[in-house]
Amino acid sequence: MEKYFLPPRGTADILPLEVPLWEEIENMSRRILRIYNYKEIRTPIFEETELFARSMGSTSDVVQKQMLNLAGQNQKDAEGEKSSGLSLRPENTASVVRAYIQNSFDKKEQLSKLFYIGPMFRGERPQKGRLRQFHQIGVEAIGPNSASAYLDAEVIALSVNLLKSFGLKDFKVKINTLGSEEDKSNFSKILREKIKPYFSDLSEDSQQRFERNVFRILDSKDKKDKDVIAKIDIKHSYLSEESRKYYEDVKAVLTDLGVDYEESDSLVRGLDYYTHTVFEITGTSLGSQDALGAGGRYNNLVENLGGSKVDAIGFALGIERILLALSQNVCVKETPIDIFIIALGENAAKQAFKILNELRNVGYSSDMSYKASSLKSQMRLADKFKARFVIIIGEDELNKNIMLLRNMETGEQKELALERYLEILGEIIKQ
Ligand code: AMP
Repeated sequence: MEKYFLPPRGTADILPLEVPLWEEIENMSRRILRIYNYKEIRTPIFEETELFARSMGSTSDVVQKQMLNLAGQNQKDAEGEKSSGLSLRPENTASVVRAYIQNSFDKKEQLSKLFYIGPMFRGERPQKGRLRQFHQIGVEAIGPNSASAYLDAEVIALSVNLLKSFGLKDFKVKINTLGSEEDKSNFSKILREKIKPYFSDLSEDSQQRFERNVFRILDSKDKKDKDVIAKIDIKHSYLSEESRKYYEDVKAVLTDLGVDYEESDSLVRGLDYYTHTVFEITGTSLGSQDALGAGGRYNNLVENLGGSKVDAIGFALGIERILLALSQNVCVKETPIDIFIIALGENAAKQAFKILNELRNVGYSSDMSYKASSLKSQMRLADKFKARFVIIIGEDELNKNIMLLRNMETGEQKELALERYLEILGEIIKQ
């Protein structure tokens, strides 16, 4: 037997019946993001590998274990420099920041509010809710001196409003602060001191993370690590007065906006670039892969990638996770078409094909069977397409220069003169 092909592991086709649901999520997102004055940006789906390593941190799990590299590593580029190669984007913050710097947005506007919707790629071990190609809706608000408790709270509220607009109710918002870059380095020192006595109880992975990236231990799903974390007491002792005040302000605005949130001392997010506010939204009906979205402030990333000193905050929501969380409440349905044309006989088919194209030219969604078949089987097709109206043309109708128009909901049938059918059809469809 010939080999047949399957999609690559961890990827999925989005089939025609599912597409309307995706469109609904995307359209709703665009509508709400416009209300908040975010503008869409579309960046390439691959970038220099180095961009991701520099932004997320070379010790982050994504960069260490999940990059999907394209060819080109260690080859020399046009200037004779060794290139880090190209990788499919595992997330979009780095690309948006690259575009922000390249286009000098910092000189053009005080605050750039950007959003994107698109596929991301991570070489993960696939499981329910965890794919190698998945889709995110994300925002980035970037601008010189733009850090503000209002903006942080608004970005969190926006992510919540998006989820609510899709019909989701069962989710929790967790927030925390990492403080400034300096506070964060204090935090990692304190964390190491507190974890050190339990070093041998940590999982093998976390023993390695201890020096490399101690924050990742707090993200670990391993029971051994969770037990250690439960024993240590993480307070905000690493925060400067200024950072503490900033966090208190963010919480106060969130409360004013009516956003329910929980504080979580151990929420740190495993990427290097976060500073100050971080947050995560988890779906309460989802299993182990329960994160619907996450984000945070990253005031040093633009500068670290070669731009000016610019503040920024963003988040990303996972569309597949949203659909999983919604799956109990939505059923996928065929999108109805306006008109299906049934032709009986070869001459009728010719006339019907002409009418089909006239209908499409004036904007009716319409279709017909391209193969001759019985009235019954063509009616079945009309039903499958959920046609609101059916036009029937047979030899009799051709001879009389008419067509039959059937309202599929009421069963009512009318004869329309061929030379005026569009006009009359317009009146009937409008009713
Ligand atoms: P992250 O950048 O890892 O914080 O991801 C943001 C959101 O994207 C998560 O909360 C998930 O909803 C979604 N996401 C991340 N990784 C995957 C994946 N491998 N498969 C499906 N969704 C994912």
